[in-house]
Amino acid sequence: MLTSHLIVGALLNELVLGEGSDHIFNQGGSYMSLSTSAHAVWEAALGRLQVQVPRPTYETWLKDTHGELIASNRLIVRVPSPFVAEWLETRMIALITDAVSAVTGRTSEVELRVREDQVVLNQVEPPPANFSNPNPPLPKTAFNSRYTFESFVIGPSNHFAFYSAQAVVDQPGTAYNPLYIHGSVGLGKTHLLHAIGSKAAAEGYRVQYISSEQFTTEFTRAIRDRRMDEFQQQYKALQVLLIDDVQFLAGKDGTQSAFFHIFNELHTNDCQIVVAADRPSGSLVPFNDRLKSRFEWGLSVEITEPDYETRVAILEKHAGRIAAAVPSDVVAYIATAATHGVRQLEGSLNKVLAMSQFSGEPITKALASRILKTAYAARSNSPEAVIIKVATFYGISLQDIKGGARNKAISQARQAAMLLLRQAGLRPDEIGVYFGQRDRTTVAYAIQKASARANTDSTFQKSLEALQNVEN
Ligand code: ADP
Ligand code: MG
Repeated sequence: MLTSHLIVGALLNELVLGEGSDHIFNQGGSYMSLSTSAHAVWEAALGRLQVQVPRPTYETWLKDTHGELIASNRLIVRVPSPFVAEWLETRMIALITDAVSAVTGRTSEVELRVREDQVVLNQVEPPPANFSNPNPPLPKTAFNSRYTFESFVIGPSNHFAFYSAQAVVDQPGTAYNPLYIHGSVGLGKTHLLHAIGSKAAAEGYRVQYISSEQFTTEFTRAIRDRRMDEFQQQYKALQVLLIDDVQFLAGKDGTQSAFFHIFNELHTNDCQIVVAADRPSGSLVPFNDRLKSRFEWGLSVEITEPDYETRVAILEKHAGRIAAAVPSDVVAYIATAATHGVRQLEGSLNKVLAMSQFSGEPITKALASRILKTAYAARSNSPEAVIIKVATFYGISLQDIKGGARNKAISQARQAAMLLLRQAGLRPDEIGVYFGQRDRTTVAYAIQKASARANTDSTFQKSLEALQNVEN
């Protein structure tokens, strides 16, 4: 019964959150009547540009633009969104100006104007939890009861990390300080941090788990409310500090320097610090060198992709936890097919179980292969590869697209990536993992915005199509 609730719940989420709303953007709006000459000049300039730039670039960025007005040597061109304007402005304005000048026969200027009625929504952040409390304590950590040492399957890919994590709980602050755990997404870093946290808390240590995003938010709030001293004080009392996904501190100088001071203070007091990241500390960029060197003071351990035997053991443990009887040939099939992280492994098994539950079909290898073939065909690009592809297309860094930056260009690229991942079959909560552990509702909202945008903004729609057709 419990099993069916879990699985049906997950499936319902998937169905309910599947479609975005169409009604977020204002539509229509009026424009100045097109001046015939502006129209003609721009059409001629577009003709030139069309042969100068790659076709996808033309289709994506230039095709839906219109010459609107021409006054003395200035041509006003209407573009469909602020993002297109910015893209053209930063990458192509010289080429555009040249093309227009060539058409008019004199040096011309081009002004890109965005439709005034186009509403671009920024990501919403949930309201601060302690907004009215002038002296908020550190948020209490609720450790995930699933993420324990007992439920962690040990194999050659993770045993070093596992035993180091255990050693850290046995003697916090003495064995390895800090312990730096790195490895790509879905391989159990957060699981280990929680395992350390709940065991340390059970043994009476004052322990705090915090994601880097949360840390950044709280630091920003402390600055805003002029509570910096308090903010730092809160950490002083800790005996174990677990900080997750520090790669998201990249480029945030102020937050890094606050963390650096807290780190030093805690380290001096023999507080155990455990850091998780998706890469070795040497590869964190842009990152404060002093902080990086602190990360290298203790022990650095890597978690890699589990091998076949470990994947089988993880699946069996997962099946056992949700009390599902899964034949061993089905386990073997999934362990062979799902090779991209533990999360995918568990997700694949959940899919097969859900389908069997819905259709009443027994759990067989044939069923698994039918379900997963479709799922993997849709996911032939790994989520990471899709995100890189989108970031490259929009010309922004991987850190920015995954991180918390809120400017329009970055938000749009991030939303596009999330929408593509959604279309590839990932659920909002799965997608959130790739974007700094954003929560499901934030992701679902971003996807809604992107999908509404795709319906009203043909340039955006074309970018998405282009992205879907680009090979990695
Ligand atoms: P990361 O933080 O590295 O992205 P998580 O810790 O969130 O990954 O792990 C993703 C999922 O995989 C979680 O459900 C976690 O419990 C599970 N998992 C990862 N590694 C193991 C393992 N060795 N044994 C059991 N479950 C694991
Ligand atoms: Mg994690």
